[in-house]
Amino acid sequence: MIFQKAKGIYIEGRKGMCKINPLKEYLSPKYVYIPLLQRACNLESQVKVGDEVKIGQVVATNQQQFNIRVHASVSGKITAIKKVWHSSGKMVDAIEIENDFKNQLAETIKEEKNVDSLTREQLINKMELAGLTGLGGAGFPTHIKYKTKAKINSVIINAVECEPYLTCDYHFIISYPEKLLKGATYLMRAAEANEVVIAYKIYNKQIREALQPFLPKYPNVKLFPVKNVYPAGWEKYIVEQITKKTYTGLPAEAGAIVNNSATAIAYADIVENNIPLIARPITITGEGITKPSTFFVPIGTKVSELVEMSGGYIKGLDPIKYHYIAGGPMTGKAIFIDDLVVNDTLGAVIVKPVIEGLYPECLGCGKCADVCPVYLTPTEIKKAMERKDIKLLGDLNSNKCIECGLCSYICPSHIEITEAVVKGKTMLRKGGQ
Ligand code: SF4
Ligand code: SF4
Repeated sequence: MIFQKAKGIYIEGRKGMCKINPLKEYLSPKYVYIPLLQRACNLESQVKVGDEVKIGQVVATNQQQFNIRVHASVSGKITAIKKVWHSSGKMVDAIEIENDFKNQLAETIKEEKNVDSLTREQLINKMELAGLTGLGGAGFPTHIKYKTKAKINSVIINAVECEPYLTCDYHFIISYPEKLLKGATYLMRAAEANEVVIAYKIYNKQIREALQPFLPKYPNVKLFPVKNVYPAGWEKYIVEQITKKTYTGLPAEAGAIVNNSATAIAYADIVENNIPLIARPITITGEGITKPSTFFVPIGTKVSELVEMSGGYIKGLDPIKYHYIAGGPMTGKAIFIDDLVVNDTLGAVIVKPVIEGLYPECLGCGKCADVCPVYLTPTEIKKAMERKDIKLLGDLNSNKCIECGLCSYICPSHIEITEAVVKGKTMLRKGGQ
C-alpha cells in the first residue's frame, strides 16, 4: 500500500516557544560523559582512568556489531567510568572526561584535500571511521545503509521533524543551510544516486528560504514540502510519496536511502575535515522551561547544564505536575532529567505539564483506531496482548505498528495505548517468550 491512502492528523505544534531563540553553541562543558551504549549495543572502553585524550580520539568500540566507534568530544583527562542516565531510560556506564579547555585535536582531524575525487568506498569508509549514526533518533550506523547492493536513485533527507515541541533540526538547518546541501551531496555520491530530495514541512518556510539561495550550486538537490500533519515525517510515508514505490523492509527496495538532516550536516564535517561524530544539536523545551532553547553541544554534555542555560525551570515548578521526556512527546521516553547526558540520538528534552483528570476506563469511542495511520485497532491489540494471544496479535497485524504515539495522543481517557500495542508487537516478535 502506498502511504498516500493512509491517515495523518493535525496536532498542535508548540514549537513557537523555541523557534524564536536562535541556535546557541555550548562547546566547552567542564565534564562530558561518553555513554558505553549505542543503539542497544554495549561498547568496550579503549581508555582507562588517568589517560589523556584529544578531541576526535576513539575512546570506545564494539567491533562485533556494526564496527561502532565512539570518540572523545573534548580534550582532557579520563577521570572515571561511572553510571549516568541515558535517553533509553536506563543507567549506563559512561567515560567521564574532564575538559582541559585546550581543544587539542586528534591527528586524524585534518582538512581533506581530495574531496572531489573520493570514491564511493572512501566516502562510506569515512562514515564508518567517524562513527556516524542516524541523528534523527534511530541511531542506526549510517555506513551500514550505504553498503547496500541495491541500486539507489534518491537520497532523501528527512527534515520534517513532525513531533510537537521539537525544533532541533529546524535550527540546525537554518544555521547551516549550505553545510546541509554539501553533506547531502556527499551522501548522494556515497550511494551513487542521481538526486537528493529534502523533505520538510510546508509551514517551515524558513527552511525553504534558508536553502533556496544555495540551490543553483547544487543542481541535483530538490525540495519536497510535506503536509502539516502527523506522522508526515514517518520514513515510509516520505519514501513512498517521493519514489511512488512501495516496500516492505528497507527504503533501498524502493531505490532510496533516508537520512536525517542533522546526519547530513555532520557528514559534511566528516568528509571535508575528518571530524568524527562528536557533537549534535538538542532542544530543551516545554512549558516547564523558562527560556526554551536549542544548543549545539559535545556528545556527553549533561542536560542539567543546558536546562540551567535555558533559564532553568519555571518558578515554583512542581515536579509531580510535570513530565520529563527524552525525545519527542509522541515517541520519547520518560526520564529523570537532572542526570541525563546527551548521546547521539537525543534531540530534545521536554518538560511539559501532566494532563489533569485521568479516566482509566476505555470509553470504546474508537478514536485510537480512527487516527491510526496504518489502520490498526489498538484496543483489540491491547486485549490480545493482555491475554498473551500470539495468534490474534498476528491476525491483528500488531507488527505493522510504527510506534507513532497517535493512539495515546488522541485517547480522551489518556490511556497509554501505544505502550500496550508496542508490548503486543514485541510479544509477537518473540513468539510469546
Ligand atoms: S502507535 Fe501504532 S497503533 Fe498507535 S496509532 Fe501509531 S501505528 Fe497505530
Ligand atoms: S481512544 Fe482511548 S477511550 Fe477511545 S477506544 Fe481508544 S483506548 Fe478506548
